[in-house]
Amino acid sequence: MIDLLVPDARFDRVSSISIKFDLQLRGFTHVILDMDNTVVSRADHLVPQDIIRWINKAKAEGIKLCLLSNNWHHAPFEIAKQLQIPVVAKALKPLPHGFIVARDRIGARSGDTVVVGDQASTDVAGAHLLGMKAYLVEPLSRINEPAHTRIVRSIEDVLTRPRLSPVPKGQQPTQETMQDTIVEKRPE
Ligand SMILES: [Mg+2]
Repeated sequence: MIDLLVPDARFDRVSSISIKFDLQLRGFTHVILDMDNTVVSRADHLVPQDIIRWINKAKAEGIKLCLLSNNWHHAPFEIAKQLQIPVVAKALKPLPHGFIVARDRIGARSGDTVVVGDQASTDVAGAHLLGMKAYLVEPLSRINEPAHTRIVRSIEDVLTRPRLSPVPKGQQPTQETMQDTIVEKRPE
């Protein structure tokens, strides 16, 4: 049950996901994107410039994207129009129906699709229920979140905590011991 909530990878924000390394080289040609606090900040209701650039770059690389939102207002349609990508709203995530509609809308299959969102109990669980991978991002803002989201998020934080305990002080790697494991900075 808990594995349903554990993301396949975590990122600071959508634009931290490498289109080459985290999508293309992993076989993901389709991305289902959550909207609130993943693409649009709850603080100012805008899409940050770096995320607009990331979406445009992904599209230019041939990645197909679809917004999938539980939002019941008009916002998902306005944001989809701004970003020029399809949208499925009123999705009732984590229930499978919205994910299936979004997947079909962009001609995706579960194996070539990754869901990107900021909430384990809706975005990650919904993806995993249909056998899709899920990338969890930090919420763009914790301002203006409804009370129920804050409560759910604190439960999710506990359930999705990494299972390895931190290395004890004094045994942490130094620059010398890390030298042969340091990976070259990704070229993006
Ligand atoms: Mg969200």
